[in-house]
Amino acid sequence: MEPSELLTQARTRSIDPADPLETLSAAITLSDELSRDTDALLDLAVRDARSAGASWTAIGERFGFSKQAARKRFSPPFAGRQLANRRKKRDAACSFCRQTPGPRSHMVHGEAGRICGTCVSLASDIVADLAKRR
Ligand SMILES: [Zn+2]
Repeated sequence: MEPSELLTQARTRSIDPADPLETLSAAITLSDELSRDTDALLDLAVRDARSAGASWTAIGERFGFSKQAARKRFSPPFAGRQLANRRKKRDAACSFCRQTPGPRSHMVHGEAGRICGTCVSLASDIVADLAKRR
């Protein structure tokens, strides 16, 4: 699929297609889903090739890397990439409550972290309460 088609898809999922940051949030979610799907595709194809008796050397050649790299990447089953995906998901999550971005969770990105709409609203209530007490 063309990147422009994917962007269109992200816009249709965006809670506010007129807001480029909401479209970006939807694009991040879509990108995470797509990378999970392509990882799963390769995992299945490698598993099939291994079941059919293909060597790690032959599998590595198809990817353009060594037998050791092929084995490391795909065996034990996908542990490395699962960890990488978990890290990627964690890195996209709210720095305060760990909520991950999604169609219903707004995320404001800052230089050192992210904050979700729920935490913004909670923080806003706390600040308003503090202001009242003065
Ligand atoms: Zn949060």
